[in-house]
This record gives sequence, structure tokens and C-alpha cells, in this order.
Amino acid sequence: MGRGPRNAQGGRPRMSSGDGDNRRPLTKLAQAGRRAEWTGMPGQPGGIVNPPVWRASTILYEDVAHLRAALGNTHERLFYGRKGTPTAWSLADALTSLEPAATGTALFPSGVAAIACALMGVLRPGDQLLMVDAAYDPTRAFCEKVLRPFGVETIYYDPLIGAGIADLCTENTRAIFMESPGSLTFEVQDVPAIVAAAKARGIVTLIDNTWATPLYFQPLRLGVDISILACTKYIVGHSDVMIGSVTANAATWEKIRASAQLFGQMTSPDDAWLASRGLRTLGVRLAQHQAGALAVAQWLARQPDVAKVLHPALPDCPGHALWARDFTGSSGLFSFVMRGGTGAQADAARAALIDGLAHFGIGYSWGGFESLALPVDPHRYRSATRWQVDGLAVRLNIGLEDPADLIADLDAGLARWRAVMA
Ligand SMILES: *Cc1c(COP(=O)(O)O)cnc(C)c1O
Repeated sequence: MGRGPRNAQGGRPRMSSGDGDNRRPLTKLAQAGRRAEWTGMPGQPGGIVNPPVWRASTILYEDVAHLRAALGNTHERLFYGRKGTPTAWSLADALTSLEPAATGTALFPSGVAAIACALMGVLRPGDQLLMVDAAYDPTRAFCEKVLRPFGVETIYYDPLIGAGIADLCTENTRAIFMESPGSLTFEVQDVPAIVAAAKARGIVTLIDNTWATPLYFQPLRLGVDISILACTKYIVGHSDVMIGSVTANAATWEKIRASAQLFGQMTSPDDAWLASRGLRTLGVRLAQHQAGALAVAQWLARQPDVAKVLHPALPDCPGHALWARDFTGSSGLFSFVMRGGTGAQADAARAALIDGLAHFGIGYSWGGFESLALPVDPHRYRSATRWQVDGLAVRLNIGLEDPADLIADLDAGLARWRAVMA
């Protein structure tokens, strides 16, 4: 090639929006965010593969005229460290390109910060928010402890409400927040039905898409305005970085960008770089998480001590048909419910099951390469619906280990559970 480096995008800067971009998702994962101006030196041949870590607070200008000229459009231009450097722009650009119909992506120091800032970007005092009852608990906490005193009322709704959401909409309803599948209980929501009800009333829709990632579910393609990821989970994939993202369509992108900037939200270049590195292997990792989780979930579903397996790809899971209709895959996080009630003996049996596991860590978060097991009690985080299951639940993050080892480990765990229940 005589014309300088061919970067992965043929040397041409490419529009980040998925519109008119017919590359398939796995190809995008390998190529996205590697623009020539972020991987090469101006006027010099050659270029590196990955945009490096650009650390910065101050940006220096040639003279006052250049300083003043920089003030106009600061998007994806060196201006001040808080507005990011090519390292963060590259990650944001890649995340935008994974969502057909997306206009831009803002990055945050955590998934919770992304959720909080997205909600603050679209809500004003006097507004009402409809929040799914199966939401991640810190999302509920933000609604109660920040939005309520700020003058925004949150109404919680049944994850399976579908088109019935229209009955909850009032003239003050400004936004509908979805999380599908739901945290801990994995109900799959009828996103197109909710979007249709919202669009008919000019209501903004947001979704926490952390479980599926844009690889297995693309909410903006279905008309959702704003898609939020705890990149901490699958995008990073290695349990060593906290980061969140908000990807928005043309109708809401300016609000999201303004909200992020006004709250001074950003992510460190080192963390953005690690997330970009994670993104390159998201496709192979998710495929393996999916296969491992399905093997373990199907095995659990056959065990007599297990009452229920809550995994969107299993017919038992509420909303399974919606998952089959709207998603292109399932990831590695699901729950199962034991038989034997919810009393003290069952609680001790669940602890014995989990405590003795050799291949599962005990801890919060998920989406990393290592398997985790967590006792979960979803009834504590409900208000609009009741979690009606007569048994205690365990949430599993299935990592990249051999599923046969994980199943043998859980088999021994079930024996410990039976010993305590006997
Ligand atoms: C973990 C998680 C978050 C929050 O992400 P953090 O990076 O831990 O703040 C948000 N939503 C869901 C569904 C999560 O599992």
C-alpha cells in the first residue's frame, strides 16, 4: 500500500452511526473506534493498531487565537481533559457503531453514574418516571433518594406489563425506564409494545441493556431512545474496571451529552482503554458465556431439588417468547430457585450450597471471565409486583471455565443443600 497505513476502516474516517453501515457486529467489534487520526501521527506514514492511552488535563494551544477557536465545537477535539481524549472517543465511537440508529455515546465512571446521569438528562421537577419493578436495586435507590426529593415521582410497573403501560401514562409521564431481562429475576420485557405506547405520547424511553449488550439485543433499532450499559460487566469482561455508557439516538443525544458535561462525568483514559481492549473479544467471550450458561441452566432444570431456573432462553422464564422474538442470544447470568421454602433451614442450606463451591467466587458484579454465585432475595426490591416463589434463589455468573467442571461443582453443592435440609 503506497498511500499510508490501511487502518481497519480502509483509511477513511467512518460515520460512527450504524445507519447505512452494513458491517456485521463481529466485524464492527474488531474494527470500530480505530480511526486513522487516533492511531497515527499527522503527516506521517504508518499507524498503530489500537488507539493508545492519551492522558491529559491541560491541552496547550499555539496562541490565543487557537485557544479561542477551540471553544466552538469541542466534540471529539482536544480541548480539556474532562472532555476526553482519543482513547475515550474511540471507545464511545465503537459503542455507538454497535447500535444501529445511534447518534452518540457518553462515558461514565460506573454503570450507576450512567443511569443517574441519563435520568437527570431527561427529567425535570414535576415529571413522572415509570420504572420497571425488576430494576437493578441501585437504580431504584436513585429514584427514591435523588429523584423524589428533586420533584420527580417514580411509579413502578410490572416487568410483564407490555402494552398495558399505556394505562399508567399520565400527562406528566416524561420517561419510561426498562431493564430487560430484569435484575435477579430475568423477566423479559415487551420492548416494542412499550416503545409504541411511549412514542404515541411523546415519552422518552430508556433501557438498561447490560445483560444482552448490543451484540444480542439492539434497543435503539426497536425505537428505544437511550441505551445504558454497565460496561463494568461484559464490555470490560475481566472484573478489573468500573465504567458505564449511555448511547442515545438523534432525539436525545444532545440532552445526554449536556447532562454528562454539566455533571462533570467522564472516564479515565486507562479505564477506557481497558474497556476498548475488552470490546475486541466481546463476541467470542459472549458466545462462550452463552454456551456455558445454557449447559449449566439446562442441567439445573433437570435436578429434582431445583424448583425453577430463571434464564431467558429457557421456556420457564417469564417473557421467554419475547426473548426468542427480540434477542439474538443469551449471556451468562441467570438465577435458579431451590425447593424447600424460605425458612431458616433453607437459608442455611443455600449458604452451604454456595460456601463449598470450588469454581465459583462469592461476590457482587458479574460479566467477568470467572464464575460467581450469589444468594439473592428479589422480594426485597419489589413494590408494584410480588415475587411469588416458594424457595430461595441463587444467581450465577457463568464464566469461561469448562461447564462440565461447573456442573460437577454445583452437583456437590446440591448434595450439601440436601444434607442441611434432611
Ligand atoms: C452492575 C449493574 C449496573 C451498575 O453498574 P456499575 O458499573 O456496577 O455501577 C447497572 N445495571 C445492571 C443491570 C447491573 O448489573
